[in-house]
Amino acid sequence: CGIVGYIGQGQAAEFLLDGLRRLEYRGYDSSGIATVEDGELDVAKAAGRVEELAALLKMRHHNGSVGIGHTRWATHGPATDINAHPHLGGDQILALVHNGVIENFRAIKDRLIDKGYEFQSATDTEVVAQLLAYELEKVSDETLDSEDPLAPVIQAVQKSLAKLRGTYGLAVIFRDWPHVIVAARLGSPLVIGVGEGENFIASDSSPLAGRTKKIVYLADNEIALVTTDTIRVIHRDSGDVAHDVQTLDIDA
Ligand code: GLU
Repeated sequence: CGIVGYIGQGQAAEFLLDGLRRLEYRGYDSSGIATVEDGELDVAKAAGRVEELAALLKMRHHNGSVGIGHTRWATHGPATDINAHPHLGGDQILALVHNGVIENFRAIKDRLIDKGYEFQSATDTEVVAQLLAYELEKVSDETLDSEDPLAPVIQAVQKSLAKLRGTYGLAVIFRDWPHVIVAARLGSPLVIGVGEGENFIASDSSPLAGRTKKIVYLADNEIALVTTDTIRVIHRDSGDVAHDVQTLDIDA
């Protein structure tokens, strides 16, 4: 339903929680965030109001400056704490939030279970998280030796997305690539807010108010690699594509 992401110098959790509150108007049944800090992913999520999540966050440390958040409107699996996003993939190597519906999730899930992957939730979304973990674990050696440190991530994301049928807006953070958020869309809106020394991701511009007026609209089949001070857009099936930064006409 709603997606937010933050990468910068500030505390990610603060923007994420504020952003999720601003997305509440869209309706939802659960919410959650994940941050990456000191080589570990930290997830907090809960069914019910964003205030339930806020109460959880008061009792924990989420000091990381990279993170993603979600308000869920359940389509596959009931509105429980476990089915709330973010979902972890592999041995907690990535955390992912998703808007939309993955139509072929059952077939992919069965194949991953055969390969030894264990699922926690009843969602279609967790299949994307586990598929991406699987593709990351088997990226080619050339990719690992590439001069581009993000080459393995790009290859795994492209391969995973090519296997999905359905709709998605996605945001992903990685334990072993803690300086990037990957965002991707097909049939579900996603925008990137361009800040100074920080960048934002959101499913609509409302969480960006007061933060930035500069926006990159992601198009279908595009993947964005967002760091604190760079935004790179690649096509799902090929290489880099140009992107425009537009100025939003709101009172930010
Ligand atoms: N299909 C996903 C789920 O049920 C995402 C729903 C949404 O867009 O919030 O978990």
